[in-house]
Amino acid sequence: MTLNGTLYDALTARNAPERFAVDLTALLAGQVDFRRDLKGGETFALVWQEDQLPDGTIAGEPRLSYARLELTDRVLELVATEAAGPIIVFEDGEAVQRSAAPILGARLSSVFGRRNHPVLGGVRMHTGIDYAAPVGTEVSATGAGRVTFAGTIRGYGTTIDIDHGGGVVTRYAHLSEIAEGVREGMRVKAGDEIGAVGATGLVSGPNLHYEVRVDGRPVDPKDQDALPEQEIASADDLNALATWRSETGFISGTDGERG
Ligand SMILES: [Zn+2]
Repeated sequence: MTLNGTLYDALTARNAPERFAVDLTALLAGQVDFRRDLKGGETFALVWQEDQLPDGTIAGEPRLSYARLELTDRVLELVATEAAGPIIVFEDGEAVQRSAAPILGARLSSVFGRRNHPVLGGVRMHTGIDYAAPVGTEVSATGAGRVTFAGTIRGYGTTIDIDHGGGVVTRYAHLSEIAEGVREGMRVKAGDEIGAVGATGLVSGPNLHYEVRVDGRPVDPKDQDALPEQEIASADDLNALATWRSETGFISGTDGERG
């Protein structure tokens, strides 16, 4: 599609999900200012997925798979390799951004699974992973999504939940504070500061409890591609980019890739 007007107008004119206007604006915020950088006439391509039930109705939210925006001076592409991330942004074929880590420079202090509870004692299920870090250390959203809870939960202390679509929710607990402006209903993007490490709830010391839930059930974040890695793009991500380019007719290498 060609952009003449806002991204929102272009999406609705083509019956594409309106929510992608928000998602794309947030995901590409570091690379493009949709109000300033678009002069009209830019080429835009979008691929998304929806789950269709046997009776033909659509279940859940549509999920972005691939997006390509051709500006006058560069090409931006966005590849989602999993339902809720990681999402990688490419500029002229070079990976420039991906879903973020929940905390940087912390020590992994407790893994997912059964363990002796540090406060209650006894063997209990640990539903997330803990990162030990000083009180006040910045906590970031691991992917783009919508804040569905920001408040206090017994045991978890000060907690933020972010819904990433596709049934995936991330939880950040034991926080000392919720970042200014973060409230239920607001959209965040990967890497946004949402709060700070604390020791609220049932803890033996300051740590971030990071939990990933799929359809309401805690899963091991390490087994989830939703848990971002530090690298920007893996070989698989680059393969995914190449696949989307060929499937959408944008053959790799024709847009002056830098590498
Ligand atoms: Zn924990």
